[in-house]
Amino acid sequence: MATETKSFTCVQCPMGCPLTVTLEDGVVKGVTGNTCPRGAKYGAAEATHPERVVTSLVGVVGDHHPVSVKTAGPVPKETVDAVLDQISATEVRLPVHIGDVVVRDVAGTGVDVVCTKSRER
Ligand code: SF4
Repeated sequence: MATETKSFTCVQCPMGCPLTVTLEDGVVKGVTGNTCPRGAKYGAAEATHPERVVTSLVGVVGDHHPVSVKTAGPVPKETVDAVLDQISATEVRLPVHIGDVVVRDVAGTGVDVVCTKSRER
């Protein structure tokens, strides 16, 4: 049986509790250092399948000012580079509105990329 520990700082609130996650054969056996249940949940997820919401900018056809976008939900951390590559290869045409889908199923994650601000022509 392989036992390991991983350490994280909880980012679920400004307290930033230091978490230690104990795993046996890749299975979470315990989380310590958390002050509340959210920290235990975050620590367990971060130790086994970390995810991130990705924010970025996409170019606008015929305009020098890009549009801000983000993934509509968290994507697996290991896909972040592929997500950013696909976003950087994308251009939109104005107008765009908050929530407009810019990229569907980005990098095969099942998550869309959406606009976070509206821009008229
Ligand atoms: S464990 Fe709870 S109190 Fe501590 S940083 Fe995470 S969310 Fe905040």
